[in-house]
This record gives sequence, C-alpha cells and structure tokens, in this order.
Amino acid sequence: MKLRFLGTGSISNPSFSASYLIDDKIIVDMPGGNYKNMIREHIDFTKINHILFTHFHGDHFLDIPFFLLEKLKLKDRKVTNLYTFKKGKETIKEINKLAFINDYKEFNIRYNILDDFKVDRYDVKRIYVNHGSIKACGYIFSDGNLNIGFTGDASLDENIENMASVCNYLICDCSLECGTNKHMGIDNILYLINKYPNCHIIPSHMFVETKEKLEKLNNSKILIPYDGMEIELS
Ligand SMILES: [Zn+2]
Repeated sequence: MKLRFLGTGSISNPSFSASYLIDDKIIVDMPGGNYKNMIREHIDFTKINHILFTHFHGDHFLDIPFFLLEKLKLKDRKVTNLYTFKKGKETIKEINKLAFINDYKEFNIRYNILDDFKVDRYDVKRIYVNHGSIKACGYIFSDGNLNIGFTGDASLDENIENMASVCNYLICDCSLECGTNKHMGIDNILYLINKYPNCHIIPSHMFVETKEKLEKLNNSKILIPYDGMEIELS
C-alpha cells in the first residue's frame, strides 16, 4: 500500500487534520481544509473515486462538498463512492445541501453502507469503535498479504485491541499523552505495541505536545508521520 498522510493533526494543531490517501485513489476522511491542501499538494482528483468516512465530527468530513464540486468542474463522469454507515449518509446529504443548495443534485455519488466491502484491490472491514457519544468506526484493509488498520478517532477498547491483533500496521488515534473515553494516548499505544508485537503503530490526530513526546520516545515500533509524508507499507 502506498500511503500518503494528507494531515496528521488534531483540530487545534497547525498541522492539517487527519486524512490519508491510499494508492493515489482512495481517501480516508475529508476534514475541513483538506480540499485546499490537496490542491497545494498537486493531488490528481480524477484518480480518486473512493472516500471512506470514520465519523462525523467536522474535522473528518466538512470538505466533502468541495471535493465533489471539484469533480463536477473536472467533468469527471466517474461515480464517487462514499463509504459510511446509514446515519453518516444522511449527514453527508445535509452538508452537501447546505454548502451548494443548487448544485448538490448534480453530484455523482454512490453510497455504500455495508460493513464488509471491496475497494479497488482491498477487502475492507468496518470496525465500530468507541468515540464518546458519537457513532464512529475504523477500517481494516487487507490485500491478502498485509492488514492495515485505520482507527479513526477512538478510545482503547476490545475492538481496537482486535484491530491491533490482526494488523501489521495500525494508523492509530494518538491525540493525547493519556487516553480518555474519546481518544487514545501514548499510554494506550505503548500498551498495544507491547501486547501485539507484530503490529507497528503509526500515531495520528496528534496534538502538538503529544507529537513532541512521541518523538522523544524514539521507539522503533512507532513511526511518527508528518503532513505530506508518503510511505510504502510492505
Ligand atoms: Zn472525532
């Protein structure tokens, strides 16, 4: 998997909000600011036809209308597949209407609300996670060789442990120094790498101070990303 980190920060971090581009054509989350960042980074919008959403806090989905408008401007006739759960589908419809009341009907969208599905060469499984009172999910991508997980915003629970137990790489909420019932922390990822030695952790959604503390750990099982970083996971 070629993985590009469009953003790695929490909302109050000057880094862009967490978003990931897979193999130049699949995106996980579309936070506010992502669209302009993608233009700056010269991302080819015509290649991207799959967007997966983890949950519906604004720093994970607010730029979807601008992405879809870009597709219209490009006269890209390919369907954009949006992967979410049922409630998320309603939220996306609402934000598209609010942002572009006249144009939204032209958006060429297909919603996928299944929990198991195929995207390009990956089998993908949705994993529901605990993120306080809001419904949220992560995803595991499997290519038959590697399992790569994205937790989205999540606290540590048995579903996250299940992800760590099967994933070779886990792109993992590490917002805080100490985990809470909404977000994971450095204490949680240290617990995961000790318990599941085959799993490499790539922390994301970091506050500034959290990233500084992670860097001081200098732990070979923790790969700390930065905005614009591109890696080949193999
Ligand atoms: Zn959130």
